Amino acid sequence: MSKKQVNREKSIRRTKTLFEILLSISIIGAGGYLIKGVTDRSETVGHSQYYAEPEPATQAPTEPEPDKVIYETYNVPTKDKFYGDLILVNDNYKYLGGNENLVSITERNQEEGRTLFSAVDPDESDKMLIVDKVYEPMASMIFDFYDATGLSNILIYGGYRSTEFQQKLYDDDLLETGAEESTRVAKAGYSEHETGLAFDFTTYPDYDYQGEGEYSWFTDNCYKYGFVIRYPEGKEQITKIQYEPWHFRYVGVPHAYYMTKNDLCLEEYINMVITQYYYQAQKHLEFSDDLGNEYEIYFVLSDDDSETTTIPVPTGQKFEVFGTNVNGFIVTVYKNQEPEPEITTENISEDITESISEESVETE
Ligand SMILES: [Zn+2]
Repeated sequence: MSKKQVNREKSIRRTKTLFEILLSISIIGAGGYLIKGVTDRSETVGHSQYYAEPEPATQAPTEPEPDKVIYETYNVPTKDKFYGDLILVNDNYKYLGGNENLVSITERNQEEGRTLFSAVDPDESDKMLIVDKVYEPMASMIFDFYDATGLSNILIYGGYRSTEFQQKLYDDDLLETGAEESTRVAKAGYSEHETGLAFDFTTYPDYDYQGEGEYSWFTDNCYKYGFVIRYPEGKEQITKIQYEPWHFRYVGVPHAYYMTKNDLCLEEYINMVITQYYYQAQKHLEFSDDLGNEYEIYFVLSDDDSETTTIPVPTGQKFEVFGTNVNGFIVTVYKNQEPEPEITTENISEDITESISEESVETE
């Protein structure tokens, strides 16, 4: 028997064992999502061997039914529920994150030689910060808008705000209106801009972006880049914020797609996933987008008594786990995408060789 065969046998056997554990837990009705004691993902199923195997493992008699998804456990720090693409921040849910991975839009534009759009910072630090992963989809969206319309007068006039700066905006608004409470500016700690996942558009030279005429392209297409109009028209009762066609929020492509196609604002979407598509529910949220990408989405309650929350994730599939800032985590499974290969002692030498040769090409 070759080494590979041994590995496959092992992984099938382990898979079956976990399947049996999950089955018995669900029969007992103990919830199933907290498999205490099974703490390290790499020890539970050893799936890297499973999906590194080139031939599909279908003939083995021990293989469970093909439509049965096997879940293994994945541990995250419980405090991570305050972080990630899907955090809900509004009047009720304070932003508790921090240490955002920020980049300057102005600096990135200079580095990339991009002159099609620019950013003005009301903070006058001239940096206009945004979470790193938001920059590229934002830039692609603006470039595609230019290709579609020939217009190149987009200006980013709002990005990340520190809590101190949000407080200053709030105080300035009170001074201006003479009111005791602002109805236009969020209190410090409760603005989505503090997450770095949101930005505001305006147009040059009129400084009046309304998302109308040719600019409605952004409203219609932003979901393709992972953005939603965070405060949509008709949802003011739920968001408690006026229609703001200029305020874009990054939530990631699958979620932006679903929210847009089903006319849900972030409050409604998070509430729906939490109440209807939690891990133990009959069904998870499953859909495919325009490009044929298939997704499975479900909610996992955070274990607030523990520093770590155990998340069930499907074996051998690409997934992401994001905090909601409300009760726990949302798991996104990319059903027809290859998972990132895990580094094992067997493929490390190959990986190093590849990165060295890539580097030598790029540096000179
Ligand atoms: Zn805004």
